[in-house]
Amino acid sequence: METVKLTIDDKKIEAPKGSTVYQAAKLLGIDVPTLCYMHLHDMNIENKPGGCRICVVEVQGRRNLAPACSTKCEPGMVVKTHTTRVLNARTTVMEFLLSDHPKDCLVCPKSGSCDLQDMAHRLGIREIPGQEYAEVSTYRKDTSPSLVRDLDKCIMCRRCETMCNEVQTVGALSAFNRGFMAAVGPAFEQNIEHSSCTYCGQCVAVCPTGALTEVNHVPHVLKALADPSKTVIVQTAPAVRAALGEEFGIEPGTLVTGKMAAALRALGFDYVFDTDFAADLTIMEEGTELLDRLSRHLNGDKTARIPILTSCCPGWVNFFEYYYPDMKDVPSTAKSPQQMFGAIAKSYFAEKKGIDRNDLVVVSIMPCLAKKYECQRDEFAVNGNQDVDFSISTRELAAFIKQANIDLKTLADEDFDAPLGESTGAGVIFGTTGGVIEAACRTAYEIFTGKKLERIDFTELRGMEGVRSATLDFNGTPIKIGIAHGLGNARKLLDEVKSGKSDFSAIEVMACPGGCIGGGGQPLHHGDSKILKARAAALYQEDRQKPLRKSHENPFITKLYEEYLGKPGSEKAHHLLHTHYFDRKEQILVKK
Ligand code: SF4
Repeated sequence: METVKLTIDDKKIEAPKGSTVYQAAKLLGIDVPTLCYMHLHDMNIENKPGGCRICVVEVQGRRNLAPACSTKCEPGMVVKTHTTRVLNARTTVMEFLLSDHPKDCLVCPKSGSCDLQDMAHRLGIREIPGQEYAEVSTYRKDTSPSLVRDLDKCIMCRRCETMCNEVQTVGALSAFNRGFMAAVGPAFEQNIEHSSCTYCGQCVAVCPTGALTEVNHVPHVLKALADPSKTVIVQTAPAVRAALGEEFGIEPGTLVTGKMAAALRALGFDYVFDTDFAADLTIMEEGTELLDRLSRHLNGDKTARIPILTSCCPGWVNFFEYYYPDMKDVPSTAKSPQQMFGAIAKSYFAEKKGIDRNDLVVVSIMPCLAKKYECQRDEFAVNGNQDVDFSISTRELAAFIKQANIDLKTLADEDFDAPLGESTGAGVIFGTTGGVIEAACRTAYEIFTGKKLERIDFTELRGMEGVRSATLDFNGTPIKIGIAHGLGNARKLLDEVKSGKSDFSAIEVMACPGGCIGGGGQPLHHGDSKILKARAAALYQEDRQKPLRKSHENPFITKLYEEYLGKPGSEKAHHLLHTHYFDRKEQILVKK
């Protein structure tokens, strides 16, 4: 049999002469998406008009994209099947097809086995351009920086209301109107952005329809990746690696850290970094602040605000800014790891690489929907250029990987890039309830006592009870720690602080039940605590496997301070790594 040698997605193949690129890719196990193409093997019938253009690929040396189903293999051909240019072209083709298609999918006889619908899902299409205008009479949509509420899709199950009001005590969602106009949302005629919503996303995690979803940042990321003038870097939050695999049928609690790094590189990111690096940095700043306040308090300084509250969860920040604005000097002023990363990336890293910050795009992969809002806050930008440009959730990343036809399961593990990808075990456990304060205590103990911490695991801070406390012995000084996850639980501790009854030295609060492992952007866990516990166990496993487990031992953090920041709490560190808080109700009124 005569053959043709060519390369597809960097893999060499000898395909039978006369094969199409689609057939050769298939021999390599590469699944190029198709719509109009059909092959009925046993009947020897093949339909390959190359008409729909969904199967387009990039062929080196050709200006135009080529349909894989009807392009013949040629000797020496070099083909790429899932570049950002190809993905963008497929999306555009699909949007055209959908714009001209009836939208009765719920009751269509083909629903559930419709190739068009499956393809739209595979390509991550969430909106059909022009649809809003075509259906203006009934279309009721409310978009905020993090969440989208589509009132037409609300079936009044009121699951979201239970999460928002009973679990989180946020009070942003309630039923209004009657009959056909009935829906759940902020009080009549108010939208999410101008309500008490914290963007924790727990409503999205339980909504049985598409009435509540996250704002999709993937198209923006795709556009940036396709722009040769931009350097696009990515950071991944700790909780993502413990849950991403679930979207690919991998057992909950399986770490996919190395596969995730490999997938991000395959998607085209120029540098793959880790938010855990910034978590270590957070500990340096927050720990310094804790020790400063603690020492002053122990020396009788009445102005020292104790307990200190953690500030790395933007859902929690939104909550206290709305409900407890008179206490906004109590939380730590340290920025969240996402924002510390962005600030360092667009200053230290950009300067080191000689990249103008306007040409550097920072993308974050987060378990969290509140991070989308957080990165758009005015104070986290320099001359209108955000420190973090786009934030996509774990679910969005999974969809993006599938869209690019990357098989996560079979990827070989890869490492993060240096220097912003290097972290200790302390940074990893940020992703679960109790982890932030445990990481802080590992460092604070050694600095406060001047002694080496022998027992690194503060197991007394771990667990899944909604409100927990433990007293640690800092060489004879008792340090009482409080922990709350879920905003309803946080409210209990905060009310105690407000009334002066709290005797805690420090309190960790995470807005989502379980902490970030149960974030609103994670694969849906349907309230199954076994899944949350498995994810937490995975993070503790990664922590144990790390050669360094205390943030202040991270040599790349030490270097960052030596080369750039000075010391923790310095003026430069304050300028780049700390923030301030607002009275959110007042701010909403001004913005309205
Ligand atoms: Fe986001 Fe984590 Fe806070 Fe949830 S707990 S709002 S996922 S930072």
